[in-house]
Amino acid sequence: MPYVVTDDCIRCKYTDCVEVCPVDCFYEGENMLVIHPDECIDCGVCEPECPAEAIVPDTDGRAEAWMQLNREYSAQWPNLTRKKDSLPDADEYKGVGDKYTKFFSPKPGG
Ligand code: SF4
Ligand code: SF4
Repeated sequence: MPYVVTDDCIRCKYTDCVEVCPVDCFYEGENMLVIHPDECIDCGVCEPECPAEAIVPDTDGRAEAWMQLNREYSAQWPNLTRKKDSLPDADEYKGVGDKYTKFFSPKPGG
C-alpha cells in the first residue's frame, strides 16, 4: 500500500518529503520525484510535508494514474536522501494543471 507522487510535483521539487522519509525511498528525476512502491513502508509522514500536495496514498483516487510512473522511474532515477534547494521557479508552477503533458521530463536528476 505505497504512497505515490503525482504530477503536482513537476517543476516544484521542494524535497521536504525526502527529509522525513525513514526508508529513503524517493528517486529524483530532472523536475520531479517519485516513490519506489516496493520500498515505501506506507508510514504516511511525507504526505503532509509536501507544499504542493503532490503525495497521495494509493487508496486515493488520484494515485492510480501515477502508480506506474512511480514504479517505472524509481527503477531508473537516482536515489535522493537529503533535502536540496527547490527549483528556482517552483512557486510559479505550484497548482498549475496538467503538468505531466506540459512539462514531464524522463531525464534523471542529479
Ligand atoms: S515535497 Fe512534494 S513537490 Fe516537493 S519533491 Fe516532494 S513530492 Fe515533490
Ligand atoms: S509513506 Fe513513508 S516510507 Fe513511504 S515515501 Fe512517504 S515517508 Fe517514505
